Amino acid sequence: TSFGFKEVREEEKSQMVGNVFSSVASNYDLMNDFMSGGLHRLWKDRLVSKLNPFPGMKHLDVAGGTGDVSFRILETINNIKRRAIQDVLEDDLMEETRIYVCDINPNMLNVGQSRALEKGLGKDKSLVWVEGDAEALRFEDGTMDGYTIAFGIRNVTHIEKVLAEAYRVLKRGGRFLCLELSHVEVPLFKELYDYYSFSVIPAIGEMVAGDRDSYQYLVESIRRFPPQAKFASMIADAGFQKVEYENLVGGVVAIHSGLKI
Ligand code: SAM
Repeated sequence: TSFGFKEVREEEKSQMVGNVFSSVASNYDLMNDFMSGGLHRLWKDRLVSKLNPFPGMKHLDVAGGTGDVSFRILETINNIKRRAIQDVLEDDLMEETRIYVCDINPNMLNVGQSRALEKGLGKDKSLVWVEGDAEALRFEDGTMDGYTIAFGIRNVTHIEKVLAEAYRVLKRGGRFLCLELSHVEVPLFKELYDYYSFSVIPAIGEMVAGDRDSYQYLVESIRRFPPQAKFASMIADAGFQKVEYENLVGGVVAIHSGLKI
Protein backbone atom coordinates (compact mmCIF):
# COMPACT_ATOMS: atom_id res chain seq x y z
CA THR A 1 0.00 0.00 0.00
CA SER A 2 1.03 3.59 -0.25
CA PHE A 3 3.61 4.60 2.36
CA GLY A 4 3.87 0.95 3.43
CA PHE A 5 0.97 1.03 5.84
CA LYS A 6 -1.14 -2.05 6.29
CA GLU A 7 -4.46 -2.21 4.47
CA VAL A 8 -7.46 -2.02 6.75
CA ARG A 9 -10.36 -4.22 5.78
CA GLU A 10 -13.85 -2.75 6.02
CA GLU A 11 -14.95 -4.89 8.97
CA GLU A 12 -11.87 -3.76 10.90
CA LYS A 13 -12.59 -0.17 10.05
CA SER A 14 -15.37 0.61 12.50
CA GLN A 15 -13.55 -1.25 15.27
CA MET A 16 -10.40 0.75 14.55
CA VAL A 17 -12.34 4.00 14.61
CA GLY A 18 -14.04 2.90 17.82
CA ASN A 19 -10.65 2.18 19.40
CA VAL A 20 -9.19 5.48 18.41
CA PHE A 21 -12.01 7.48 19.93
CA SER A 22 -12.28 5.35 23.07
CA SER A 23 -8.57 5.59 23.68
CA VAL A 24 -8.54 9.34 23.23
CA ALA A 25 -12.03 10.37 24.44
CA SER A 26 -10.67 11.95 27.60
CA ASN A 27 -7.80 13.84 26.01
CA TYR A 28 -9.51 14.19 22.64
CA ASP A 29 -9.72 17.97 22.82
CA LEU A 30 -6.07 18.29 23.77
CA MET A 31 -5.17 16.10 20.78
CA ASN A 32 -7.17 18.31 18.43
CA ASP A 33 -5.26 21.37 19.57
CA PHE A 34 -1.98 19.50 19.28
CA MET A 35 -2.54 18.16 15.77
CA SER A 36 -4.04 21.27 14.23
CA GLY A 37 -2.02 23.84 16.14
CA GLY A 38 -5.29 25.18 17.54
CA LEU A 39 -6.68 25.81 14.06
CA HIS A 40 -9.64 23.44 14.49
CA ARG A 41 -11.19 26.12 16.73
CA LEU A 42 -11.20 28.63 13.87
CA TRP A 43 -12.52 26.02 11.42
CA LYS A 44 -15.41 25.19 13.74
CA ASP A 45 -16.15 28.92 14.21
CA ARG A 46 -16.31 29.24 10.43
CA LEU A 47 -18.66 26.26 10.16
CA VAL A 48 -21.04 27.75 12.73
CA SER A 49 -20.97 31.20 11.13
CA LYS A 50 -22.00 29.59 7.83
CA LEU A 51 -24.85 27.81 9.62
CA ASN A 52 -26.19 31.12 10.90
CA PRO A 53 -27.97 29.68 13.96
CA PHE A 54 -31.17 31.27 15.26
CA PRO A 55 -33.21 31.03 18.49
CA GLY A 56 -35.83 28.33 18.29
CA MET A 57 -33.98 26.27 15.73
CA LYS A 58 -33.84 22.48 15.69
CA HIS A 59 -30.33 21.38 14.93
CA LEU A 60 -28.63 18.03 14.62
CA ASP A 61 -24.86 17.78 15.08
CA VAL A 62 -23.87 14.29 13.96
CA ALA A 63 -20.61 12.69 15.10
CA GLY A 64 -20.82 15.49 17.62
CA GLY A 65 -18.21 13.92 19.91
CA THR A 66 -17.47 16.06 22.93
CA GLY A 67 -19.80 18.84 21.81
CA ASP A 68 -17.36 21.36 20.31
CA VAL A 69 -19.63 22.35 17.41
CA SER A 70 -22.86 22.23 19.45
CA PHE A 71 -21.43 24.46 22.19
CA ARG A 72 -20.58 27.06 19.56
CA ILE A 73 -24.09 26.90 18.09
CA LEU A 74 -25.70 27.26 21.50
CA GLU A 75 -23.38 30.11 22.52
CA THR A 76 -24.18 31.94 19.27
CA ILE A 77 -27.91 31.57 19.96
CA ASN A 78 -27.46 32.63 23.61
CA ASN A 79 -25.63 35.77 22.44
CA ILE A 80 -28.47 36.63 20.07
CA LYS A 81 -30.83 36.13 22.97
CA ARG A 82 -28.78 38.43 25.26
CA ARG A 83 -28.91 41.17 22.64
CA ALA A 84 -32.66 40.80 22.20
CA ILE A 85 -34.95 43.52 23.54
CA GLN A 86 -38.04 41.39 23.94
CA ASP A 87 -36.67 39.02 26.55
CA VAL A 88 -40.00 37.34 27.20
CA LEU A 89 -40.49 36.47 23.56
CA GLU A 90 -36.89 35.26 23.28
CA ASP A 91 -37.33 33.07 26.38
CA ASP A 92 -40.20 31.38 24.62
CA LEU A 93 -38.01 30.83 21.60
CA MET A 94 -35.19 29.38 23.70
CA GLU A 95 -37.62 26.87 25.15
CA GLU A 96 -38.00 25.60 21.61
CA THR A 97 -34.32 25.58 20.70
CA ARG A 98 -32.98 22.06 20.43
CA ILE A 99 -29.43 21.13 19.57
CA TYR A 100 -29.00 17.38 19.39
CA VAL A 101 -25.45 16.12 19.82
CA CYS A 102 -25.48 12.68 18.22
CA ASP A 103 -22.51 10.31 18.42
CA ILE A 104 -22.02 6.56 18.16
CA ASN A 105 -19.53 6.52 21.04
CA PRO A 106 -20.97 7.04 24.54
CA ASN A 107 -17.51 7.85 25.95
CA MET A 108 -17.30 10.92 23.75
CA LEU A 109 -20.81 12.01 24.80
CA ASN A 110 -19.92 11.54 28.48
CA VAL A 111 -16.86 13.74 28.14
CA GLY A 112 -19.05 16.24 26.29
CA GLN A 113 -21.61 16.30 29.09
CA SER A 114 -18.90 17.00 31.67
CA ARG A 115 -17.64 19.81 29.47
CA ALA A 116 -21.17 21.24 29.27
CA LEU A 117 -21.28 21.30 33.08
CA GLU A 118 -17.93 23.10 33.24
CA LYS A 119 -19.18 25.67 30.73
CA GLY A 120 -22.32 26.31 32.78
CA LEU A 121 -24.46 24.77 30.04
CA GLY A 122 -25.33 21.68 32.08
CA LYS A 123 -28.85 22.85 32.88
CA ASP A 124 -29.53 24.19 29.39
CA LYS A 125 -32.49 22.19 28.11
CA SER A 126 -31.59 23.16 24.55
CA LEU A 127 -28.70 20.70 24.51
CA VAL A 128 -29.70 17.04 24.05
CA TRP A 129 -27.14 14.20 24.01
CA VAL A 130 -28.11 11.23 21.86
CA GLU A 131 -26.23 8.01 21.17
CA GLY A 132 -26.77 7.05 17.55
CA ASP A 133 -25.39 6.04 14.18
CA ALA A 134 -25.07 8.62 11.39
CA GLU A 135 -26.07 5.91 8.90
CA ALA A 136 -29.41 5.18 10.64
CA LEU A 137 -30.64 8.21 12.55
CA ARG A 138 -33.48 7.87 15.03
CA PHE A 139 -35.09 11.19 14.12
CA GLU A 140 -38.28 11.81 12.20
CA ASP A 141 -38.31 12.95 8.56
CA GLY A 142 -38.23 16.71 7.95
CA THR A 143 -37.65 17.81 11.54
CA MET A 144 -34.32 19.68 11.49
CA ASP A 145 -33.46 23.24 10.43
CA GLY A 146 -29.77 22.42 10.34
CA TYR A 147 -27.41 19.47 10.18
CA THR A 148 -23.66 19.58 10.85
CA ILE A 149 -21.02 16.89 10.77
CA ALA A 150 -17.48 17.90 11.69
CA PHE A 151 -14.58 15.50 11.21
CA GLY A 152 -17.08 12.65 11.25
CA ILE A 153 -18.08 11.59 7.75
CA ARG A 154 -14.61 10.47 6.73
CA ASN A 155 -14.70 7.51 9.09
CA VAL A 156 -18.15 6.12 8.40
CA THR A 157 -18.61 2.90 6.42
CA HIS A 158 -21.13 4.23 3.89
CA ILE A 159 -20.93 7.96 3.11
CA GLU A 160 -24.01 7.71 0.86
CA LYS A 161 -26.16 6.42 3.72
CA VAL A 162 -25.05 9.30 5.95
CA LEU A 163 -25.93 11.85 3.25
CA ALA A 164 -29.31 10.20 2.61
CA GLU A 165 -30.09 10.32 6.32
CA ALA A 166 -29.03 13.98 6.54
CA TYR A 167 -31.38 14.78 3.66
CA ARG A 168 -34.22 12.79 5.22
CA VAL A 169 -34.17 14.48 8.66
CA LEU A 170 -33.83 18.05 7.32
CA LYS A 171 -36.86 20.28 6.74
CA ARG A 172 -37.28 21.93 3.35
CA GLY A 173 -35.03 24.99 3.52
CA GLY A 174 -32.76 23.19 5.97
CA ARG A 175 -29.00 23.36 5.55
CA PHE A 176 -26.42 20.58 5.49
CA LEU A 177 -22.86 21.53 6.49
CA CYS A 178 -19.85 19.28 6.60
CA LEU A 179 -16.40 20.16 7.94
CA GLU A 180 -13.78 17.60 7.00
CA LEU A 181 -10.08 17.12 6.47
CA SER A 182 -9.66 17.18 2.72
CA HIS A 183 -7.10 17.39 -0.05
CA VAL A 184 -4.46 20.10 -0.34
CA GLU A 185 -4.60 21.56 -3.82
CA VAL A 186 -1.53 23.84 -3.57
CA PRO A 187 1.76 22.36 -4.91
CA LEU A 188 4.76 22.37 -2.55
CA PHE A 189 2.43 22.95 0.38
CA LYS A 190 0.95 19.58 -0.56
CA GLU A 191 4.35 17.87 -0.17
CA LEU A 192 4.96 19.58 3.18
CA TYR A 193 1.52 18.59 4.36
CA ASP A 194 2.03 14.95 3.33
CA TYR A 195 5.23 14.87 5.33
CA TYR A 196 3.50 16.38 8.34
CA SER A 197 0.59 13.97 8.20
CA PHE A 198 2.47 10.76 7.44
CA SER A 199 5.44 11.36 9.72
CA VAL A 200 4.53 13.84 12.39
CA ILE A 201 0.93 12.90 13.22
CA PRO A 202 1.55 9.18 13.96
CA ALA A 203 4.50 10.22 16.14
CA ILE A 204 2.34 12.64 18.11
CA GLY A 205 -0.34 9.93 18.40
CA GLU A 206 2.20 7.57 19.92
CA MET A 207 3.54 10.20 22.29
CA VAL A 208 0.25 11.57 23.57
CA ALA A 209 -2.17 8.63 23.25
CA GLY A 210 0.36 5.77 23.08
CA ASP A 211 -1.37 4.60 19.93
CA ARG A 212 0.58 4.98 16.70
CA ASP A 213 -1.44 2.55 14.52
CA SER A 214 -4.77 4.25 15.02
CA TYR A 215 -3.36 7.63 14.10
CA GLN A 216 -1.62 6.16 11.09
CA TYR A 217 -5.00 4.81 10.08
CA LEU A 218 -6.62 8.23 10.51
CA VAL A 219 -4.00 9.79 8.23
CA GLU A 220 -4.63 7.12 5.61
CA SER A 221 -8.34 7.75 5.83
CA ILE A 222 -7.78 11.39 4.86
CA ARG A 223 -5.99 10.13 1.76
CA ARG A 224 -8.88 7.85 0.82
CA PHE A 225 -11.62 10.41 1.37
CA PRO A 226 -13.08 11.69 -1.93
CA PRO A 227 -11.58 14.95 -3.24
CA GLN A 228 -13.63 18.14 -2.81
CA ALA A 229 -15.39 18.10 -6.21
CA LYS A 230 -16.24 14.40 -6.01
CA PHE A 231 -17.66 14.78 -2.48
CA ALA A 232 -19.71 17.76 -3.67
CA SER A 233 -21.25 15.61 -6.40
CA MET A 234 -22.11 12.91 -3.84
CA ILE A 235 -23.95 15.56 -1.78
CA ALA A 236 -25.87 16.63 -4.89
CA ASP A 237 -26.68 12.97 -5.66
CA ALA A 238 -28.29 12.72 -2.21
CA GLY A 239 -30.77 15.38 -3.37
CA PHE A 240 -29.20 18.59 -2.06
CA GLN A 241 -29.29 21.83 -4.07
CA LYS A 242 -26.87 24.77 -4.19
CA VAL A 243 -24.01 22.47 -3.26
CA GLU A 244 -20.73 24.29 -2.77
CA TYR A 245 -17.51 24.02 -0.83
CA GLU A 246 -14.92 26.31 0.68
CA ASN A 247 -11.28 25.29 1.15
CA LEU A 248 -9.51 26.40 4.31
CA VAL A 249 -5.69 26.41 4.49
CA GLY A 250 -5.39 25.38 0.85
CA GLY A 251 -7.66 22.36 1.29
CA VAL A 252 -6.30 20.90 4.53
CA VAL A 253 -9.91 21.30 5.52
CA ALA A 254 -13.04 21.91 3.43
CA ILE A 255 -16.54 22.99 4.36
CA HIS A 256 -19.20 21.54 2.06
CA SER A 257 -22.73 22.81 2.15
CA GLY A 258 -26.06 21.98 0.57
CA LEU A 259 -29.70 23.02 0.87
CA LYS A 260 -32.76 20.81 0.97
CA ILE A 261 -35.26 22.69 -1.15
N1 SAM B 1 -17.45 16.63 15.74
C1 SAM B 1 -16.51 16.52 16.86
C2 SAM B 1 -15.42 17.55 16.71
O1 SAM B 1 -15.28 18.10 15.62
O2 SAM B 1 -14.70 17.80 17.67
C3 SAM B 1 -15.94 15.11 16.97
C4 SAM B 1 -15.18 14.62 15.78
S1 SAM B 1 -14.39 13.07 16.07
C5 SAM B 1 -12.97 13.23 15.05
C6 SAM B 1 -15.36 11.90 15.16
C7 SAM B 1 -16.55 11.38 15.92
O3 SAM B 1 -17.35 10.61 15.04
C8 SAM B 1 -16.23 10.49 17.10
O4 SAM B 1 -16.77 11.02 18.27
C9 SAM B 1 -16.86 9.14 16.73
O5 SAM B 1 -17.36 8.45 17.84
C10 SAM B 1 -17.95 9.58 15.80
N2 SAM B 1 -18.48 8.58 14.87
C11 SAM B 1 -17.78 7.70 14.12
N3 SAM B 1 -18.60 6.95 13.36
C12 SAM B 1 -19.87 7.39 13.63
C13 SAM B 1 -21.17 7.02 13.17
N4 SAM B 1 -21.33 6.04 12.26
N5 SAM B 1 -22.23 7.67 13.65
C14 SAM B 1 -22.09 8.65 14.57
N6 SAM B 1 -20.89 9.05 15.04
C15 SAM B 1 -19.79 8.42 14.59
